[in-house]
Amino acid sequence: MSRIVVIGAGIGGMCAAARLAKLGHSVDVFEGSDQVGGKCRTEWIGKYAFDTGPSLLTLPAVYRDFFLKTGEPIEKVLELQPVNPSFDYKFADGSEVNFTNLSRHETLTSLSQNFGENVSTQWKVLMERAEKMWDVSREPFIESELTSPLSLLKRPTLLRDLFTIAPWKSLRELVRSVTDDEHLSYIIDRYATYSGSDPRKAPAVLLSIAFVEEAFGAWHIKGGIGQLALAIEERAKKLGVKFHVNSPVSSINHNGKKVSGITLNSGEKVTADVVVANADASTVYTHLISEKVRVLRRQRKSLAQSEPSLAGFSLLLGLKPDSEAPAMNHHTVLFPADYDAEFDSIFTHYKPVEEPTIYICAPRDESMSRTPGYESWFVLVNAPRHSTIGEGFDWSDENFARAYASKIISQIEARGIPLRNRIELLEVRTPADLEKSIGTPGGSIYGSSSNSARSAFMRARNRSPLKGLFCVGGSAHPGGGLPLVGISAEIVADAIGRA
Ligand SMILES: Cc1cc2nc3c(=O)[nH]c(=O)nc-3n(C[C@H](O)[C@H](O)[C@H](O)COP(=O)(O)OP(=O)(O)OC[C@H]3O[C@@H](n4cnc5c(N)ncnc54)[C@H](O)[C@@H]3O)c2cc1C
Repeated sequence: MSRIVVIGAGIGGMCAAARLAKLGHSVDVFEGSDQVGGKCRTEWIGKYAFDTGPSLLTLPAVYRDFFLKTGEPIEKVLELQPVNPSFDYKFADGSEVNFTNLSRHETLTSLSQNFGENVSTQWKVLMERAEKMWDVSREPFIESELTSPLSLLKRPTLLRDLFTIAPWKSLRELVRSVTDDEHLSYIIDRYATYSGSDPRKAPAVLLSIAFVEEAFGAWHIKGGIGQLALAIEERAKKLGVKFHVNSPVSSINHNGKKVSGITLNSGEKVTADVVVANADASTVYTHLISEKVRVLRRQRKSLAQSEPSLAGFSLLLGLKPDSEAPAMNHHTVLFPADYDAEFDSIFTHYKPVEEPTIYICAPRDESMSRTPGYESWFVLVNAPRHSTIGEGFDWSDENFARAYASKIISQIEARGIPLRNRIELLEVRTPADLEKSIGTPGGSIYGSSSNSARSAFMRARNRSPLKGLFCVGGSAHPGGGLPLVGISAEIVADAIGRA
């Protein structure tokens, strides 16, 4: 049995902790903030509940596997609810299309009715390609510990796989080779932002995210997606994991080339055979470990070269009932007239987007409001990361944040969704808030972006060159978002192995 310390109680840290306890290790989780879940949490404010992080669960198989392998099936602890339509996409030209959850056939019909038969056929062509990309990348890349790019190059199917994935093409280039329809192109562009990236630079293989959503569905969890974090915590505790909240870690200690434990901000030292870091990898390598540790030089260099993911600016809206207001679907996306201006703003000019894509999550879940008829909406727009110096925007000005929120509300109303008169509660969350609450550098949503073909290889490896140190979560391989973070925990637990 090894003595294992996990730094951070995000989803990746807690899943790894539970899996490791199941393998027979003694596991302690040290969390810097006052609660578990990291970015994934459902917050109650007065009579309203909001998912302030993830509001869409895809590839639930990852968490089905987690709960089954650590004790009881997911159905015993959480109520997964399919969301239909999965998305309601509204465009600046007044057109609209609903994607039916778990049915390509109905989505094709919907595309054909709204944009014509050609566009519908183009979506089919794109999804067939995306499925092939998923098949090629899932097992050898996403679900495996990435020891070296060389291992991928040695595959006997290399040439065929390369042709499928087309690493030389951006997502935008691939899509434009199939369609010149702007509506379809905007829908696909949005999948690049699911990994915090710019579709003009992100690799074409991100198209597989669209396939995963279509094939395995868009899901909600009753009570909020944050329930996932609480259920994982409970499972970990049942397996004997000990949680220590309000316990920020100030350093990872080592003896030569091997970890020996951690030191907390309080000065307390905790010895350990293995340390699993769920804090952002750039923080781990630049702030928690002495820069004298030479074996980490290459990993540090890669992280320094990788571009952080975009961040998010969100509005939490508690709304009074209004019989005149149109009924909203669970997930609505209001696309702007010029999507590229958004990516230029975020990644080149580091400025809040003038006319952003607006995502509205209006859960049809009565357990997320204490008063029937009242609704809690989570509104999210992509934003440049927070920085007071250099590449980012200084989000710490509260007056600016409130004015920006008001602008977004006006833009929603301009699209025929009355809002201002219904608002009973309005809270704003900026990238600076996320950085402050859980130490995510710049408030980046997904760790590092995928803004180049090499970015996947620049992320922190799950197994660090410092013996006994492992990295798990959105800033480590295979990347951010709930499905990948859950997979990273499985990779790390498998790499550490049985007690
Ligand atoms: C606004 C927003 C919307 C999102 N929407 C979606 C979505 O719809 N679907 C989806 O799949 N994903 C979504 N994501 C991404 C998803 O939330 C993350 O990828 C995932 O939750 C990250 O988990 P993680 O394991 O990396 O841990 P994190 O959530 O990053 O948590 C890390 C933990 O480590 C702790 N920590 C940091 N430093 C220290 C230290 N020194 N000592 C102790 N503890 C420390 C932090 O306090 C935190 O609790 C969204 C994220 C955000 C912010």
